[in-house]
Parts: sequence; C-alpha cells; structure tokens
Amino acid sequence: MSETDNPAVGAPAAGAPTAGALTVGGPTPGGSSAAALEENLWPATARLDRDGVLRVGGVRVDELAAEFGTPAFVLDEADFRARCAAWRRAFSDCDVYYAGKAFLCRAVARWVDEEGLNLDVCTGGELAVARSVGFPAGRLLFHGNNKSVAELRAAVAYGVGRIVVDSFAEIDRLAAVAAEAGVRQRVLVRVTPGVEAHTHSYVSTGQEDQKFGFSLAGGAAAEAVERVLAAGSLELVGLHAHIGSQIFDTAGFGLAAHRMVGLLARVRDTHDLELPELDLGGGLGIAYTSEDAPLEVADVAERLTAVVGKECAAAGLAVPRLGVEPGRAVVGPTTVTLYEVGTVKELPGLRTFVSVDGGMSDNIRTALYDARYTARLVSRAGSAAAHVVTLVGRHCESGDVVAHDVPLPDDVRPGDLVAVPASGAYHRSMASNYNHVTRPPVVAVRDGAARLIVRRETEEDLLRLDIDPADQAGAAVAP
Ligand SMILES: *Cc1c(COP(=O)(O)O)cnc(C)c1O
Repeated sequence: MSETDNPAVGAPAAGAPTAGALTVGGPTPGGSSAAALEENLWPATARLDRDGVLRVGGVRVDELAAEFGTPAFVLDEADFRARCAAWRRAFSDCDVYYAGKAFLCRAVARWVDEEGLNLDVCTGGELAVARSVGFPAGRLLFHGNNKSVAELRAAVAYGVGRIVVDSFAEIDRLAAVAAEAGVRQRVLVRVTPGVEAHTHSYVSTGQEDQKFGFSLAGGAAAEAVERVLAAGSLELVGLHAHIGSQIFDTAGFGLAAHRMVGLLARVRDTHDLELPELDLGGGLGIAYTSEDAPLEVADVAERLTAVVGKECAAAGLAVPRLGVEPGRAVVGPTTVTLYEVGTVKELPGLRTFVSVDGGMSDNIRTALYDARYTARLVSRAGSAAAHVVTLVGRHCESGDVVAHDVPLPDDVRPGDLVAVPASGAYHRSMASNYNHVTRPPVVAVRDGAARLIVRRETEEDLLRLDIDPADQAGAAVAP
C-alpha cells in the first residue's frame, strides 16, 4: 500500500557529495552550460531549446509558468500513454492495473481506460474518481488493509471487479456486505510471501512483520483461503502479493512468484481447486538521478512469466492469469515539477541554499524517505560553471529540502525557473497544505498544447473547510 513498504527507498548513493560549493563544470565552448538532458530522467518529449529553455510536450516551460504559475506539475501525456502501452505490450495476456495511489485524477483515469489498462484503487476517494468518469467497474481492483464498511458497500454497489481481502475481520465484513447486496463478490487474498525487496537486493525473512495481508509462512494465508471459500457471498479468484517499492532487481519478484505458486499448489491439494489468478503487485523502480538504473518492463515481464511458467509446470498447475500493478513506473517519469527561484543564500565554505516557491508540501519524499532528486535550470542556459547547492522549499522547517547536492549554474538567481524530473508519482498525491500553502496544479502537455487537469488550489479553497465560530454564533446550541 504505502510507498514505505520498502524502507530502503531512496537511500543516498555512496560517495555522493554532502556539502560545500564544489565547482563541477568547467567552461564549455560557446559559454553555454545547457548540457544535454540526462537520459532516462526526463519525460520522453523533453527537449532543450537553443536558449536553454526546456520544452515538454512541445511547450516551453517559461510559457507554462507565465500561464499557470509556479510551482506546477507538468505531465507529458504522450509519455504517460506510451508507458501504459509498453506495460500492455510487455504483459500481454496479463491484467495490468495502474496503481492510482501514485497519482490519480479524472484525466489520468480516462487515459488509463483508453490505453487498455485496469485501475487499482485503495480508498473510497480513489474509487470516487474512477466512478466519476465511469471507469469500467469490472476492471477495478480495490486494495487496503482497513477498508471501511461504507467503502466496501460503495465498491460492491459499483460492481468493482476484484476486492483484495487483507484481514479475517474484512473477510467477514465483505461477506456480509456482498450478502446484503445480493451479489457474489470476486476476491483475491493478499498474501505476505516473506520477501523483503530492497533497492538493490532482497532478503527472504523479516517482511512478515508488517500490517498488510496474511502471512504465508505462519499459515494465515491458507486459513484466509479456507474462510473465503466458506463464505457463500464471496468468490475466490486468486492470490495477491506486493513486495515493496522502487525495486531494481527481479530476484525479489522471482522469489515471491515461486512462493505464491507454492501456495496455489497447496490450495489445489487441499481444496481440489486451481485458482485462476495470481497478482504480483507493483514496485518497479524508476530513475530519480543518473545513479539509478531501472529495469526494463519487458525484461521484468519475461522474468516473471518464465518463473511462474516453470513453477507451475513443476507443480502440475495450469498457469494462472498474471496481474501486475505498476504505479511509479507508469507516472513517475512523465512529470516534472516547475519551481521559481526566490532566494539564493551563499554561505562561503559551507553551502549554497537555493529556495524555490514550493517544497515539502509538493514533494514530501525527500523529507520522508531521504529520497534523492536532481534539478536543473530550465528558463535559460546559465553560466558555464556550476556549483553544488541545496535546493530548499519555502516551508517553516529546516528539513524542507527538495533536493540535496544539485549542480546548478553558479549564476542562478531569483526569477529563474528550476525543474525537478521524475516527480509524477507520490508527489501531487501526497501533497499537503502545510503552512496553508495551496497545492500546485497539474498541467498536461501534448503536441504543443497545455491543458489543466488539476487546477491550483486557492486561498478560498483552504477557507472553505474552515468554520468561523462568528458565523456559527446564532446557530450554536446552548449547553
Ligand atoms: C503501492 C502499491 C502499488 C504500486 O507501487 P509502485 O511502487 O508505485 O509501483 C501496487 N500495489 C499495491 C498493493 C501497492 O500498495
């Protein structure tokens, strides 16, 4: 569920510089420091104009800033759609669920539908977004370790294709809700296979100790299967596992697949029933800096289908229909956050702080996971020499860092635009109103045109939920 499924997310790279005003660039012929965009970090359509201005989706970011203000999330729609298509292709004959918690709004739900992906939601709120665009109910999957009865009722009423049951209490609750609605609800059982996925390695113990799902090793998963089978209003269609996030190694997926097929075989042996579906969750990592080397979707697909095929053959099982749930890997790389520089504070011999007009309210990942990011000047070429700075936000916390150790041209100044790539997943969806800052808009760009898909919050939006006792005086009930 949570991105924190993996405690190793965003661990600092060994040998990364930590402080100081290092000069990392020398003069280049022509005096321009608008070095090429790093590969794999920027949205697919990102380009630099001759004057050093970044274009995404064919639109210059200086024009975007003028029209929509800053900070703003700029989402490359063509890249998003192409990534959906790549997952569809790589996992043909599988169910690909886009994990909406990474970033969901109505436009995104429509694109996901149009590109033929299914959608995974994990709250009634995410379900409401899907419902509001008429997302086909049968292609929805509903997760969560503590879904409320109201959420379960809403999901059953809408006809959500699959609900992933996460606890014994929930099996009882959902069985009652489905019975009350007079339907037979399809469910998957969430299993914790005892695989802990780290950024670059995995260990096979320890991950039992978490809030999600039923332990495989402890026998709870087998018992959950039995209880779902005993509930007349539930139809068990398969098993589910999600081993973590920001994974760069297929070994963890392979081990999880191996164990899950083992459980499918035990279910067959115990209940004389071959479950038709196996969902292996999400978690494929992306590049936040050039230190990260993400896996290719096609390679992951090949590895997973090979492992499952081989294990099923060994167990004498028909190969189940596989499911996967990419969130970050679909939306993360499609988006840049556009900020305007407000102040530059140089502490000679120590560090330079460059402050932008957003921060932990639009990117909590740096503070929460010590995640690493890069950034670049995108409104002009800048001087040839660069220095390593700390890019900070505008919030009242010294931990309000957008990106550590970012090389920026040493003439960076107020009014410049700076962009942070790979900020499509778990940025806008985790954004807050800390310090009563209004949350940034999301602007979709495509073929030279920009379109608002989530508008900027206003102070009026903030005050709308805030009840002034003075307005209530007449209505107050005396004690
Ligand atoms: C978070 C989550 C995902 C998506 O994870 P990513 O790292 O964004 O791919 C998929 N499935 C479940 C159950 C999750 O909790």
